[in-house]
Amino acid sequence: MSFFDALSQAGKDQDAQAAPEAVCSRKGCRAPAAWQVLWNNPKIHTPERRKIWLACPEHRDWLEDYLRQRSFWKETVPFDPAPEPTADPDTPGAPA
Ligand SMILES: [Zn+2]
Repeated sequence: MSFFDALSQAGKDQDAQAAPEAVCSRKGCRAPAAWQVLWNNPKIHTPERRKIWLACPEHRDWLEDYLRQRSFWKETVPFDPAPEPTADPDTPGAPA
């Protein structure tokens, strides 16, 4: 069995930004995502490329472990389904 077969069985593959329905990438899990697990396969991805799996709190460790075992795991960051725009004052260069 190739790595890709194993990967497709382990999780729903997602490219770049999170899909509209932000649910856990673990196969069969429909829980809302709370984490983004960022990974990279150096054999097929350029070093700066990041693949993203969404993870619910329950499966975060499972997905991280899966990628860590293959040395693909990069980092895990909190997933915010509706990011607030950062408060940016209209006045540029306000005096300190
Ligand atoms: Zn899950």
